[in-house]
Amino acid sequence: MTQQRRYRAMQVTRPGVFELVERDVPTPARGEVRLRVEACGVCHTDKWTVDGDVMPIEYPRVPGHEVVGRIDALGEGVTGWAVGQRVGVGFLAGPCGRCGACRHGDFTRCTEQACTGVQHDGGYADMMVALATGLVAIPDTLDAVEAAPLLCAGITMFKALRKSKAKPGDTVAIHGIGGLGHLGVQFARKMGFRTVAVSRGADKEAAALRLGAHHYIDTEAADVAEALQAMGGASVIVSTVPVPKAMSALIGGLAPHGQLMVVGAAAETIEVSPFALVKNDVSIHGSLTGTTAESEDSLAFSALQDIHALVETVPLADAAEGYARMMRNDARYRVVLTM
Ligand SMILES: [Zn+2]
Ligand SMILES: [Zn+2]
Repeated sequence: MTQQRRYRAMQVTRPGVFELVERDVPTPARGEVRLRVEACGVCHTDKWTVDGDVMPIEYPRVPGHEVVGRIDALGEGVTGWAVGQRVGVGFLAGPCGRCGACRHGDFTRCTEQACTGVQHDGGYADMMVALATGLVAIPDTLDAVEAAPLLCAGITMFKALRKSKAKPGDTVAIHGIGGLGHLGVQFARKMGFRTVAVSRGADKEAAALRLGAHHYIDTEAADVAEALQAMGGASVIVSTVPVPKAMSALIGGLAPHGQLMVVGAAAETIEVSPFALVKNDVSIHGSLTGTTAESEDSLAFSALQDIHALVETVPLADAAEGYARMMRNDARYRVVLTM
């Protein structure tokens, strides 16, 4: 068999412009592995790379940080991983192991860590080079297309719920039923919470209940805070909608000592009256993706509890269309590129 010399990559050449190109197959450097990509999820955060409006991007850049593939080559010094092994790569490209955060065990906040598909080329491609410290082992029971969204959307929801103070039987609301929320509803249900899906419009209700929600609140038809209080208040609300105004409206729905967990990042301000915080001893928390080990926990929990990402597959060559579909909020629920 002849060695493949070229591979396809869907790069962003300049802000807003995708281009399918052929590149020379890269050689992984020390500490890196080369993957043959099988699937890559399309995440809202890919906008950072596509638009270049959050941080400076060195173009051309290949987006994509929900990557599943097989190891194709090992760089020097890589141990514990083998050629042919199924692996995933998420948003955080791999911790350094040396900085203050890493030495305190807080790998998510490694100050030397890059973001996959932002500072390094990501998974909108047939091949990708990744740091071995950023690899996640993929269980055989999960296929590549289904596993991909679990590496960003899935771990984000799993971690936010797992680190929240909610206990089995507590009321937990998931705000937004999209790429993150549709997994959040499934996790919340399978973790044993009384699960409330919160979204806009009556048309999402049936799907939310099918995903496992016990209740649905349509924010166009009801005051969400009142509706949650009518259920006794939520111990935890996880908000996936990056609209601070909509988050502010949730706070009144928290039970005493409740937590609003924010996972939908936005630059604008969440408004809350100190009175509302003080009266009920409620708090607002942020949560950012997770470590590679937490991702493996999330994948194992998904396999154990029969949790499935619902996806629309799009061939790599049509990535621009898939991305636009995600941005329009038309995808049900995650777009996944196949190679
Ligand atoms: Zn993401
Ligand atoms: Zn570090």
